[in-house]
Parts: sequence; C-alpha cells; structure tokens
Amino acid sequence: MNLIEDAWLPVLREQGPDKIAPWQMVEPYNPVLEIIAPRPDFQGALYQFLIGLLQTCFTPEDHDEWLEYWEEMPTVEELKKTFEKVASAFELDKPVDSSFLQDFDLKAGEIKNIAGLLIESPGGKTIKDNLDHFVKGGAIRRVCPSCVATALFTLQINAPSGGVGHRVGLRGGGPLTTLVMPGAKESLWKKLWLNVLDRDWFETTDIELGPGIFPWMGPTRISDKGGKNTTPEDVDSLQVYWGMPRRIRLDFLDAEESRCDLCGENATSFVEKYRTQNYGTNYEGAWVHPLTPYRFDPKKEKPPLSLKGQQGGLGYRHWLGVTMTDQSSGDCSAKVVKAYMEERVHSLTGESLARLWCFGYDMDNMKARCWYDHEMPLLKLDAAQRDNLLHWVKELVDAATDVSGFLRSQLKEAWFKRAKDVKGDMNAVVLEFWQQSENDFYALLKRFSDLPGDQRQVPPEIYAFWAKTIRNLALDLFDSWALESPVEDADMKRIIGARKELAKKLRTSKAMKTLLNKSSL
Ligand SMILES: [Zn+2]
Repeated sequence: MNLIEDAWLPVLREQGPDKIAPWQMVEPYNPVLEIIAPRPDFQGALYQFLIGLLQTCFTPEDHDEWLEYWEEMPTVEELKKTFEKVASAFELDKPVDSSFLQDFDLKAGEIKNIAGLLIESPGGKTIKDNLDHFVKGGAIRRVCPSCVATALFTLQINAPSGGVGHRVGLRGGGPLTTLVMPGAKESLWKKLWLNVLDRDWFETTDIELGPGIFPWMGPTRISDKGGKNTTPEDVDSLQVYWGMPRRIRLDFLDAEESRCDLCGENATSFVEKYRTQNYGTNYEGAWVHPLTPYRFDPKKEKPPLSLKGQQGGLGYRHWLGVTMTDQSSGDCSAKVVKAYMEERVHSLTGESLARLWCFGYDMDNMKARCWYDHEMPLLKLDAAQRDNLLHWVKELVDAATDVSGFLRSQLKEAWFKRAKDVKGDMNAVVLEFWQQSENDFYALLKRFSDLPGDQRQVPPEIYAFWAKTIRNLALDLFDSWALESPVEDADMKRIIGARKELAKKLRTSKAMKTLLNKSSL
C-alpha cells in the first residue's frame, strides 16, 4: 500500500463514510467533512499526518497565499501533483527497501505481537493495575494496513519511554497537541489548513526527498554507545513532523478476506507481528514542534520543554499556557496557535471564532493512565488586550487554584480523624470544582475580550462575580461531599469545624484577598 496513492484514510463525507487517499480531501463533489478513526488517539494522529503532509509539500509562501487557499481550497489535480512528489517515501509494505516509518535495514530485533504497537496496550503491569483503557488484553491479534499505518504513526509521534534504549518521541513521551479548529461546521480542508504555517512562520526550503526529512529513507541514526544524538541542526526542519524514535519493521501477510481487529472492516492483508530493536534516533536539543506548546527557559540555557498531558485532566487553568505567550515565564503556545492569535484571526472577518482542540495521553513513564481530549475557546485580541489578559486571567486562575486546594485539604479534615496521614489524591473532588466553574470562567474571558486594550483596569464587578462564584462553589461541593461519607464514620463536629476553617480560608487567602480588594464587595 502507498499512503499517498491508495485510499486508506477513514473519513466522513457529506453523504456518509468513505476511505480516501490524502489528495481526495479536496474533492468538490460530496465533500469530506471529518476524519473518523476507530480510536481517539488515532483521530489525533491522522490529523497530524495530514497537517504534516501539507506542511511538507504545500507550505504557503506568505499570509496572503495562506488566505487564498482558506477562501478557496486547491483543486484535486493541484494537490495530487504536489503529494505525488513524495509518494516514494510513503510505501508501507516493501519487504526490503525503505518503508514508511520503519527502520531502513533492521536485521535482527525482538519479535512482538501487533498489540504491542498500541500505546496503552497492556503489558504485564498495565493489566495488573486494570489500566487498559482502550483495549482489553488479547483482543487485538491482526490489524489491516490502514490501521497499522495509523498505529505506527501514533507510536512514533507519542513514543513514551519504553525501557533501555527505546527512545521517546521528538517532543518527549506523550506530548500535548493543540490544534486550531474552525468555530463553525467546516470542511476537513479548513480544519487542516488552520494548522499549516506559511513560510514566515515555518522556514522550509525545497523538498529534498531523503532521510533528512523522512528518516526511514536511509540508515537509522543509531544512538547506542558510540552512536549519536539527533538535533535540529543535523537534519531537515521538516523532520519535526516525521520523527522516528523507534526502530520497527512490520511483517505483512496475505490472508483470506477477514475482519481487522481494530476497525472491524474486511481486508486481505494483515500485520500480526513486528520486529523492533532499541537505540533508534535519539532526538536531543532545541526541537520545537509547531503543534505543541512549550516552556522556554527565560535564561535560554536549557532546551525548551514540551507540555505533556497531565494527571487531573485539562481545563481552563491551562488556558493561558496553551493559547498565549508569556515572555516572563517562558510559556509559549504552539506556533500554529500563535499564528492564529497574532495574525490570522484578524484577517478572518465574518468567520466565527476558532476553538482550540487539545489532546494527548497522560503518561506515567511506560504506561498510559488515560487519554485527554478537551476543547477551549480562542479569542480575538490585539497586542494590548493580550497583555492585559495575561495579567487578569492569572489573578482569576490563581484564586481558583487556592480555593481548589482549600477544598481538598478541608474535605480531608472532615473525612479523616488523622487527615495528615491519609494518602490518596482527592482528584475527583478537585476535578469537579474545575469543571463546574468552567462555563463561568469562559463567560468572563469573553467579557475581558470585549474591553478595549487601553483599559488597564478590570471592572470591579468581574472580580466580585468570580470571588463569589468560586467561594460558593467550594462551599457547595464541601457540603455535598462531606455529607456523602459513610454515616458511621461521620463526625458532625469534625465536619462543622472543617467547614468553618474552609470559609475562613476563602476570605483570607492572598489570592482571594486580591480579588476581594479589587471588587466592589
Ligand atoms: Zn483496520
């Protein structure tokens, strides 16, 4: 199978599901609306595959050219011709020679079952802890070419640490990905194109087909003792989309027509086993992936650190870090988000505002705790408004962070005689606090974005509203959770004491005092 020429991408067209080759995404009749992958991590990976392909072959010269293709997508002939330039790099199943995302000349290696290619796939430990989120142990035995290509890409872009010498992905293990999505229902083309940068944002030269961009087209840059690391200076800047930290070779076999264990569709070619070996490409240095937010060292001494999926989920407390750039802390949104916020949003008049789609695994070293998928609003702001918002939003989030901490500690006091000795993370309580205050927070953001840039002061009633909202929510959640504890353990005196302490902290904490002082309360 060739991933440029053959129809393998599962999509939804206006009139129903279909499988397409990448260039067919711009077919005008029965337009392609969405990718429909069999798993949520595959969905995110296929988006990144197509964005990477467009960025590699079809980078617009400048903002104006980007805008032209936003208004009118390229023709089928135009896109097909462009993608065909790289078709030879996208053979999936050549027994010898270069194959997509597979080691060029892997001679030995450990033979593994195909389920091992899936990130959460239960190894001994995962099954024991009952943490196999997507797949039940043993169910995935044979996988069709379309699913195996996606699984391979998913692993290579997210690769967690996998034991000695099994390298992590170019953005580290389990990075967070943030994509800009149109505000209204749009074609797949527009969903992808919002995440393709023009040459002013992403420098590329003419494509030179080879291992500089596609590392599988030449011998692997081995990283064993005596081997080497791979920095952005060593290879082409486009390799950021096509990193290959794992040395893998798929073993294809022909079979009677039967069902794929992942997507459930019939196929006549399958993969049941693959070979793998350690010490593949070891990405080091100042790699910055355009689809991921980073924290830069303000002193510029250490390489930038990609944001990862986090225990406790994603929520509005991460909004600043994934949508804005804060020079003082070094937090920087993904480049595609920066391009949208600072340039594109101002050209897209009449369009409804885009949303930010954030996703990624929450990794605990080798195992995936879970998969996060979250949407946040994006705003239309000028530079002065962005500066103001950085400051204001921090105040609101700091206060909410304090309050969620008090809620956690006082609930512990209410529940347990010796609260300090009790382990356990109380994440469910805190998560509920964040989720239930989310809509109010985003409503305030919208009000902030309506204030002109030269207004440096927030109207006091906004502070008052937020202080009241998070205070009342904390007390309400305390009451419902504290009274839910088993009756025989409940000690009303202890509960009342803890509630009193909570109410006091809600008045006197530093962040809450800041809010209250600035409010009209
Ligand atoms: Zn399949």
